Amino acid sequence: MFTISCFPTRNDPEETFQSSNIRLNERGSAVKKSVCRFCESHLEVTFLDLGMSPLANSNLNESELNAVELFFPLHVYVCKSCFLVQLEECSSPDKIFSDYDYFSSFSDSWLRHAQKYSEKVMTRFGLNERSQVIELASNDGYLLRNFHSRGIPVLGIEPARNVAEVAKEKGITTIVEFFGEKLACDLKGKGTQADLLIGNNVLAHVPALNDFVRGLKVLLKSQGVITMEFPHLMRLMAENQFDTIYHEHFSYFSFGTVQKVFAKHGLKVFDVEELSTHGGSLRIYCCHEEDSTKSIEPRVLELQQREEKEGFGQLEHYVSFSGRVAYVKRQLLLFLISTKEAGKTIAGYGAPAKGNTLLNYCGVRTDFLDFTVDRSPHKQGKFLPGTHIPILSPEAITLHRPDYLLILPWNIKDEVMDQMAHIRSWGGKFVVPIPRLEVFS
Ligand SMILES: [Zn+2]
Repeated sequence: MFTISCFPTRNDPEETFQSSNIRLNERGSAVKKSVCRFCESHLEVTFLDLGMSPLANSNLNESELNAVELFFPLHVYVCKSCFLVQLEECSSPDKIFSDYDYFSSFSDSWLRHAQKYSEKVMTRFGLNERSQVIELASNDGYLLRNFHSRGIPVLGIEPARNVAEVAKEKGITTIVEFFGEKLACDLKGKGTQADLLIGNNVLAHVPALNDFVRGLKVLLKSQGVITMEFPHLMRLMAENQFDTIYHEHFSYFSFGTVQKVFAKHGLKVFDVEELSTHGGSLRIYCCHEEDSTKSIEPRVLELQQREEKEGFGQLEHYVSFSGRVAYVKRQLLLFLISTKEAGKTIAGYGAPAKGNTLLNYCGVRTDFLDFTVDRSPHKQGKFLPGTHIPILSPEAITLHRPDYLLILPWNIKDEVMDQMAHIRSWGGKFVVPIPRLEVFS
């Protein structure tokens, strides 16, 4: 397999420190060391090494199966200074997001989540037709339409041209660009600033983190509010959600670390909510440091203390994660091998990005999973990257009657088991790999 790697990194003890970013190995050749995308300390401590993996959202067409496929290292580091858990940047964001194979509007539960959020903030912050709501990574406009329909001015910023087009068709004004300080300054220069600045599942995707947060500071009105949702590292670790690590996710935040990042750029977190979305997310509420109209809610201190108690202020806590992940892999492989040896069949359910991390890391291909199924017509007929497992429509399950259905989007396992309850009529069972392997009859 032809592979491409990004920065060659070495953790060789004989390397000698030379300058801010370059080291020499024992043979005297220069080796580039990556630095923390927040505090710029050298990245030396491995959080988790998942080996080489293709981009998780790059499903393949049949004609691409015999072509070269790009694999990138999925090696996660923890910064020993600020504890930001992060991937090195391997692929350009242009490549990842330019034709993003994901439309938010295809998930019912996500649409309900967006609607509930919109109603809550409209009331809490008294938004009206004189307010300005701006969303970063606004996707197909699924969230902003809730404000737009109430007559509140909205602006979306979305780098993926194909999804931005869908938003524009719905009447949601959308700028097709990556967000950062420059775009924020341009908008401010034209008199556009936000009363509410939203970023759902974008903070983790940002390679230039400091530039992005500086942009937030610029784009926020003096008494405006920022809300950001992102997966919570505490839940990722507690529930072995290592499969939510993929190249599109550059950073994995604890509450403590995200507070540090915002504080550095003159923004303070005044409230936080713990959500069940994406396996456990945080929604933070931020304002300007100098904004005295908002008081810090008790939930902020409570979560800070809980994280400290769990060990998020100590490097050893982060380093211990690798061993638990390897155990999950062994348990899944033991199950798959013994099931195939017994002559049983296994199919997958879903083609989420997280499934690709799991399957590539565990080396599971059509030798174990005959096929997977997905409700999204955009994915049907394609093949999973790396493993080349075909993606069929859910009717294939009824046709082929597999003995086991491996649920890849474990975060919606109850919904899937309801939808697919009919597999029990032929004795079919459900398998959930994470947080630990479980079989449901
Ligand atoms: Zn750092």
